Amino acid sequence: MKILRGRENGAPSNPRSDTFTGTVWMDPVVAPTDGVAVNTVFFPPGARTHWHRHTEGQLLLVTHGRGYVQSDPDEGSWVLPGDVVYVPAGEQHWHGAGPESYLVHVAVSLGTTEWSTEVTDEHYRSLLNP
Ligand code: MN
Repeated sequence: MKILRGRENGAPSNPRSDTFTGTVWMDPVVAPTDGVAVNTVFFPPGARTHWHRHTEGQLLLVTHGRGYVQSDPDEGSWVLPGDVVYVPAGEQHWHGAGPESYLVHVAVSLGTTEWSTEVTDEHYRSLLNP
């Protein structure tokens, strides 16, 4: 048994930029173990992931703010605190904040992540500011 105290002891918050739009902060809840990574992720308004897939899938537990998720070819959906998003293995998708609200979710990521292209400003605005 291991009790996780909210974030891995001594691990710094990790600003991400290569595969995200905007400055996204990730806090490891627990170091990746047996192909499972658990991170708390903070997206400021407008920030989002690039399109990507998880080889074994992902669960997103929305805790604060207001955000948006989209799978290809789905239209996507707003997400609010309490919502849990299940992304099946290999499904192309992105997730991020709304244009006027931050988003915090806990991401349980399984396997490895395969990154693709950015979610363009044009695409993001067409979905979130129709
Ligand atoms: Mn994902």
